[in-house]
Amino acid sequence: MESTKHTGLTVLAGPTAVGKGTVSTYIRDTYPEVWLSVSATTRPPRPGEQEGVHYYFKSAEEFDRLIEEGAFLEWAAVHGKNRYGTLRASVESAIAEGKAVLLEIDLQGARQVKAAMPDARFVFLAPPSWEEMVRRLVGRGTESPEEQQARLETAKIELAAEPEFDHTVVNDDVRRAADELVSLMGLTPHARQSAR
Ligand code: 5GP
Repeated sequence: MESTKHTGLTVLAGPTAVGKGTVSTYIRDTYPEVWLSVSATTRPPRPGEQEGVHYYFKSAEEFDRLIEEGAFLEWAAVHGKNRYGTLRASVESAIAEGKAVLLEIDLQGARQVKAAMPDARFVFLAPPSWEEMVRRLVGRGTESPEEQQARLETAKIELAAEPEFDHTVVNDDVRRAADELVSLMGLTPHARQSAR
């Protein structure tokens, strides 16, 4: 039986390039019963991204104001550049309404949520292997050797965070990983089409 330790809040975090975004996109498209938090960010929208669906896009000044107002449950500068944050009020009301709430955030943000809400469920998304992670990080081939080395060093530090989490889900296959995450959240994964 699912432990009563946890609130309805689940936090999914993990190293850069492990595929958190792909897993959460799959969940957004496949599991409407999951209440996926929409973060605020100072990053400009990418083609196809919609305001209020993928993010709430904010100017630096607007983001500063939200920090001052205490509107964030957590926020962080990711890759030292753009800022991203979880809006406290919407998450708290979704939890109060009994929804299965999912935050897909970076490790710094996950630590802040753990400090504020230790009863949440913390799930670490891990790469299938170190080799696969290296392939994903350097495989794009667009960075200098120094930049690639820096990314690998960051990845090692990020992987070391795994013991801080309640569960690990290996991202060997997006659908399988998403189904495992949904099960951990106490929901029933959808039956998958059999290949038979
Ligand atoms: P992207 O710019 O590719 O959409 O996201 C970049 C990174 O920002 C991802 O690692 C994602 O987990 C993280 N991120 C997205 N939203 C939030 C948030 O609200 N808080 C924190 N701390 N990180 C976030």
